[in-house]
Amino acid sequence: MPDAAAHLPFYYGSIARSEAEEYLKLAGMSDGLFLLRQCLRSLGGYVLSMVCNLQFYHYAIERQMNGTYAIAGGKAHCGPEELCEFYSKDADGLCCTLRKPCNRPSGVEPQPGVFDSMRDNMVREYVRQTWRLEGDALEQAIISQAPQVEKLIATTAHERMPWYHGNIARDEAERRLYSGAQPDGKFLLRDKKENGAYALSLVYGKTVYHYRIDQDKSGKYSIPEGTKFDTLWQLVEYLKLKPDGLIFYLRESCPNPSMAASAAPAPPTHPSVSKNLGPLNADGYTPEPVGKSRVLPMDTSVYESPYSDPEELKDKKLFLKRDHLMIDEVELGAGNFGCVKKGVYKMRKKQIDVAIKVLKSNNEKTVRDEMMTEAQIMHQLDNPYIVRMIGVCEAESLMLVMEMASGGPLNKFLSSKKDEITVSNIVELMHQVSMGMKYLEEKNFVHRDLAARNVLLVNQHYAKISDFGLSKALGADDSYYKARTAGKWPLKWYAPECILYHKFSSKSDVWSYGVTMWEAFSYGQKPYKKMKGPEVISFIEQGKRMDCPTECPAEIYALMMQCWTYSWEERPGFFSVENTIRTYYYSIATKTENGPKAEDKSKAAFP
Ligand code: ADP
Ligand code: MG
Repeated sequence: MPDAAAHLPFYYGSIARSEAEEYLKLAGMSDGLFLLRQCLRSLGGYVLSMVCNLQFYHYAIERQMNGTYAIAGGKAHCGPEELCEFYSKDADGLCCTLRKPCNRPSGVEPQPGVFDSMRDNMVREYVRQTWRLEGDALEQAIISQAPQVEKLIATTAHERMPWYHGNIARDEAERRLYSGAQPDGKFLLRDKKENGAYALSLVYGKTVYHYRIDQDKSGKYSIPEGTKFDTLWQLVEYLKLKPDGLIFYLRESCPNPSMAASAAPAPPTHPSVSKNLGPLNADGYTPEPVGKSRVLPMDTSVYESPYSDPEELKDKKLFLKRDHLMIDEVELGAGNFGCVKKGVYKMRKKQIDVAIKVLKSNNEKTVRDEMMTEAQIMHQLDNPYIVRMIGVCEAESLMLVMEMASGGPLNKFLSSKKDEITVSNIVELMHQVSMGMKYLEEKNFVHRDLAARNVLLVNQHYAKISDFGLSKALGADDSYYKARTAGKWPLKWYAPECILYHKFSSKSDVWSYGVTMWEAFSYGQKPYKKMKGPEVISFIEQGKRMDCPTECPAEIYALMMQCWTYSWEERPGFFSVENTIRTYYYSIATKTENGPKAEDKSKAAFP
């Protein structure tokens, strides 16, 4: 789960002060030697442990309400990394400047702490309740949107929890807790009328105990003398794990009767949008709502398959009825096969917007077969980050009916919105593409045409992989597909083994993913500029690679270069690629929101 320091090599996670001192000793006790660890007293906070004159110093770094980080009395920074960078140049009150990171010895990973599992649980519960997701859809939502969900939780969540009883008096709280069974740890949270403060009421040994919840100057909540939290929900989750001064830890919530009355409480509770949101503007771009949370992939109608509804699933067939399909004259795009038109497909309970790939009427058999192959492939795929096929329709011509991604191709979108789209927005989208590709890799499919033109946008923060015209399903025992003859191939996106030996695997898709990343971080420029296909091949053979795009972060370029590892055996797979970009995405998403572009930073890692 996002931890703003997770990617730093000198971050140890949840270790004790004494352990930190051991690591510093091992590393030689030089002046300015430092490491970072999790603060056990305040969620989201850190401790900077360092050495000066053979002495240890520990400075608490607090995360403030606005999401910045500061050492008490010091300047605020947008992340722990930036904070350390600052103190490496200017001691500004510390014992000395930070000089040498005490990196984790190899094999030592950051230690997960009690906060980490708490965070995971909260995000999971929130996503489950808000979007009613289960299984893979739930997991994918958590992985792709954890930073955004954490922000939502921080602002709104407790009011939706069954243990929150709003403004009730102390004796009413007791009445509610004493009614029914009274197991130890049964609890509720209530507002206190007087001053907007809160109280916690808890059963232990058939007696109700009441605790005041304090709020400090910066707005953090705690029970007297206890650990401080930004939100009440976090406090409650923590007290479920540790009593932290209470007579007993929190267990079962005493459900608020007024919530139980309305059988289904608040959800879908995402503040700004409803789940059946229609398509966005024609170009998929809507200016970001100011101060409101933005549309998440789970808020759109294309996050889950339309057949995820069991009622609709009853009608699922490869061939669709023509009279359920309305075709618009609007053309979304065109290709060799014909054109792609906008339309609406009528299902049992709802109508959905669709994109329809229409084969030219005077089609030859081979083109037809190709389209049927594409349909057969898409039919087997179901992932939020892949354009789903609804079915095929055989009528005035052969038609492939797909989910609508109204934002259009990624390269066009980025080149037209260069001034508005931040680097972290692109990282988010490319992370989604890596999730879709990881899914394909797991299913043993090769895409063979991954490129920015074939990544379509649902909206500014939601990308899907499309165009399975060249894709192949590999046999269970095969790791690659061998093409008998070369065809009309996108050479600039192809790995050396594709061109030299006609061998296509998930590893060659990884190469294409690298080129796609290059296109994205270049805001839709064409790769290898003026070069022709054969020139590109010799360029690669000479060991050369494209340069880092101007605004591309060093971490991302490093990943691109890994994707362009010459030998496919040594090239990472999507399992690893997704993990790498995820870590980077979380590290920047916890720092800056995808706000105005000017605030976005893209610079080399510290130190
Ligand atoms: P080709 O094989 O010719 O490249 P694509 O499947 O990439 O065909 O589709 C061509 C164009 O049609 C895309 O670039 C895009 O503009 C539009 N298009 C295709 N699928 C969709 C979709 N599901 N939603 C919206 N537009 C689409
Ligand atoms: Mg295409």
